[in-house]
Amino acid sequence: MNIRADYRELGMDRHIPRRDFLNGLAIGITGAYAASVMPALGASNTAAVRQRAPGGAPEMYPPARIGLRGNYPAAVAAFGPMQNGAYRQFPGLDVDTGERYDLVIVGGGISGLAAAHFWRRALGNTQKILVLDNHDDFGGHAKRNEFTYQGRTFIGYGGTMGIATPFPYSYTAKRLIEELGVEVERNAEFQDRHAFEKLNLGPAMFFDKEHFGEDRVVAGNGRIPWAEFFAKAPLSDDVRKDLVRVHGHNPDYMAGMSVDEKIATLAKISWQEFLLKYAKVHPDAILFFRGQGGRNNKRVDTTPALEAARRGSAGFNGLGIERDEGFREASYTFHFPDGNASIARLLVNRLIPAALAGGTLTMNTVVQAPLNYAALDEPASTVRIRLSSTVVRVQHHGDADRSKAVRVAYLRDGKMHGVRAANVILACNNALIPALMPELPDKQKAALAYAVKVPMMYNNVLIRRWSSFAKLGAANINSPCMLHTGTSLDPGSTVGGYKGVTTPEEPIIVHMTSNPNKPGLPRKEQHRAGAEQLLSTTFEQFELEIRQHLARMLGPGGFDPAADIVGVTVNRWPYGYAYTYDALADPDVPPEKRPHVIGRQRFGRVTIANADAGAAAFTNQAIDEAHRAVEELFVNNGLT
Ligand SMILES: Cc1cc2nc3c(=O)[nH]c(=O)nc-3n(C[C@H](O)[C@H](O)[C@H](O)COP(=O)(O)OP(=O)(O)OC[C@H]3O[C@@H](n4cnc5c(N)ncnc54)[C@H](O)[C@@H]3O)c2cc1C
Repeated sequence: MNIRADYRELGMDRHIPRRDFLNGLAIGITGAYAASVMPALGASNTAAVRQRAPGGAPEMYPPARIGLRGNYPAAVAAFGPMQNGAYRQFPGLDVDTGERYDLVIVGGGISGLAAAHFWRRALGNTQKILVLDNHDDFGGHAKRNEFTYQGRTFIGYGGTMGIATPFPYSYTAKRLIEELGVEVERNAEFQDRHAFEKLNLGPAMFFDKEHFGEDRVVAGNGRIPWAEFFAKAPLSDDVRKDLVRVHGHNPDYMAGMSVDEKIATLAKISWQEFLLKYAKVHPDAILFFRGQGGRNNKRVDTTPALEAARRGSAGFNGLGIERDEGFREASYTFHFPDGNASIARLLVNRLIPAALAGGTLTMNTVVQAPLNYAALDEPASTVRIRLSSTVVRVQHHGDADRSKAVRVAYLRDGKMHGVRAANVILACNNALIPALMPELPDKQKAALAYAVKVPMMYNNVLIRRWSSFAKLGAANINSPCMLHTGTSLDPGSTVGGYKGVTTPEEPIIVHMTSNPNKPGLPRKEQHRAGAEQLLSTTFEQFELEIRQHLARMLGPGGFDPAADIVGVTVNRWPYGYAYTYDALADPDVPPEKRPHVIGRQRFGRVTIANADAGAAAFTNQAIDEAHRAVEELFVNNGLT
């Protein structure tokens, strides 16, 4: 085989099936590298990680698919043509299904599934509902990844990790979680951090050669005195001195200003600008902060300094500005091994009992319950979930105000299908809605197009043992200047019969997170650039990056990428977190004039759910927006 020696050392020739999935079918990888590697891959059938299929044949069990997942290519292939106006006219149908529904929901994420649940709870189980989603699995961002290795199944989360409580769940969202049998306050029972504590593992930083002169992991940030931590880091004396200074007790860098003046100034500058102009740190010190920032993946250059100050970030404690208790965020975060994919499964269990065996499932039974994907779209069921179906057009019959029905066109298996509905909820991405319904008022379309979702990756790498982490004293490592800024051991929650990992000699999922961006550009531009990067990078390029990163970082702990990596699933989310406003990037307007409020107005028999409609990126918002969208239809139908 003609493969570069350094690639072989990294294990790029190892037998991990690598492919992009096109509606369940592998599509060939391209390029010189692929040409050299694929014959070798095909020469052996002994994949290190095999697919597991409790619900049927492997292609029928999407969580076990590895390779490029998340918003994988085939799922989003129609988005470009849609946004370029390909479906301005309602398309001709290849297949008129003849189906009629009381409600069609576009998007099978938490918001879409919750909307179906609220609708049925109010109007009863005879209501006919169809959920359409462009992916081969339901849950939206809440996605489950599975690896089976040496007879054991490892479950990870490919997107939404958990339920952060008690802040800021509304009554509606809390009620739904309780109704699903999830007792979030019992979180501590299921998360076994004991193994990490026993080995004294905690946070660490990876200083990379390109930015810091040499590759070095230093453990203990936030746990040992900062002077001691920075003494071990590859930094110049000036940078080290400044970093120690801003992490200690700071003087008032804005002396002479009143607190109000400070607040007004900090709202309009970034944390980075504050560090450079007011705290006067050496420019190279900023590299240390690159992987840090505010809520929703804002970075040091896009986080308003005021938000950073309120969070208690480095540099601000001499200003006399109070920390905002709201920023303590959750007091605990409940999570299943597959994250909120279990929440999606619990919802599906209520909607289509035949799909998940075991009666009414709860937190104790959902994780291991067999899921039969074939049962999701049974004609006999009043609720149907149709996957791999991208909705391209939604249009009222006649005038939206007087219409009695809505036509929905979707692409499935390359053919244009059509269904009709008395009501439609768009629980998808706001930015796509103008393409779905070009007849919306221009002002509403402009408002819907305002936000740019946050690009993200939650990648899972199964390694056969984690003794290298133990040797380095690290359970989670921040790499501020690498593509993947976060690398953490995910022992998995021990819940519902699933057993988490406890010893370094066991295989474990390493969770690698990334928020591709372009420091220096305005935030929305950074999101666009990051999304573009995710959409144009192949699985092989991501895999190579992951292997190189882990090799460089964990090599001194004895990590051998070729032998130790036994599975890689890349979950790319170019359409990740919902956009949220901040004082730097968005005009300060009254709440009712915010784009998400203008954008989410009911239009005839169509309402808009999904987290974008709440301009907040979390599960609770997806649930709240579903509830609002359902209620708006009830009002429109005279049901209240
Ligand atoms: C990597 C990641 C980690 C996260 N972690 C957390 C966390 O730990 N806790 C938390 O509370 N929140 C988290 N979030 C945010 C949370 O996942 C979301 O706020 C919430 O799940 C959004 O639900 P949704 O249904 O509104 O949207 P989505 O989950 O995006 O679901 C919408 C669905 O509609 C589909 N769709 C779009 N257009 C079409 C179309 N034309 N036709 C058919 N289907 C379409 C989408 O592809 C998607 O499947 C995370 C998000 C990401 C990306």
